[in-house]
Amino acid sequence: MPVEGVRIGLDVGGTKIAGVALAPDGEIIARTRRATGWGAVAVIRGIAEAAQDLAAQAGAAAGQIRSIGVGIPGLVDADAGRVLHAVNLGVESLDVGPQVRALLNAPCHVENDVKAAALGAAALHGDREPMAYLNIGTGVAAGIVIDGRIWRGARGTAGEVGHLVVDPGGRLCGCGQRGCIETLCGGGAIARAWARGGAFPVRDVLDAADAGEEAAIALRDDLARGVSAAVRALVLSVDVERVVIGGGLTALADRIEPRIRQALRDDAAESPFLLSLGLDERIELLPASSPVSAIGAALLGADVAQHTPLEKEIIAHG
Ligand SMILES: [Zn+2]
Repeated sequence: MPVEGVRIGLDVGGTKIAGVALAPDGEIIARTRRATGWGAVAVIRGIAEAAQDLAAQAGAAAGQIRSIGVGIPGLVDADAGRVLHAVNLGVESLDVGPQVRALLNAPCHVENDVKAAALGAAALHGDREPMAYLNIGTGVAAGIVIDGRIWRGARGTAGEVGHLVVDPGGRLCGCGQRGCIETLCGGGAIARAWARGGAFPVRDVLDAADAGEEAAIALRDDLARGVSAAVRALVLSVDVERVVIGGGLTALADRIEPRIRQALRDDAAESPFLLSLGLDERIELLPASSPVSAIGAALLGADVAQHTPLEKEIIAHG
């Protein structure tokens, strides 16, 4: 049976493109995953092939795709459908929207990957209250969703909590400041501070901390403290009802989540004001396999408020 009104969402990452196709009711009817190519031509080809794969799986013929959404790391001009400085993809400037539209004859919306994931995380729960998605990956950034829409702020900087300074004498951040939240809990910063190589430095830090090594325990404490500071900043500045935490760190969620909750309680222990905010009750860590960024990309241009919670579909399709 051909399906009309299919929405396709693609999460274009540094190593892989993950995609979903959503039926008009929001159900995930197809998924795909492929390696990301390097450079503008390869990135566009990968996006087009992933979208065609999803359309074929969903039984959607040309002209039946309602929209294609692309979440991509970098600075995104959503109106122009353009991404700038996507350094992990070998892309300096690329008109993703116009090129995909021309290739596949369907509307194409482009958004920063963390902002797209925020939209997906909000849809997951049918959140009506302001919410934030906090991405703890190589770097640290948040996407904020208010009334079902991504809140960009005046110049697109809203949610850049990774570069709030919490330790002015702390480690140097890639942004040029010292002691940013990202220097405490960003995977790249932890790997640099650990400085022992290895394919999974954050996991190595946790293992060494469990074994009682002091330097590792300090880094593990920093990690929890950094996430706690980011959650606090999001609640104090936007009063988000929920902070959904995703990104590479969630692969270690079972080891880290209790420490993050404890850090939130510890940081509030001396402050009746902070304690009253119930910070530790507002967070939720996503399962590592959750395709929120692709789902959010699929919902770009749609009115999320019209969608029912997608939770049961996500669980059903794992
Ligand atoms: Zn910084």
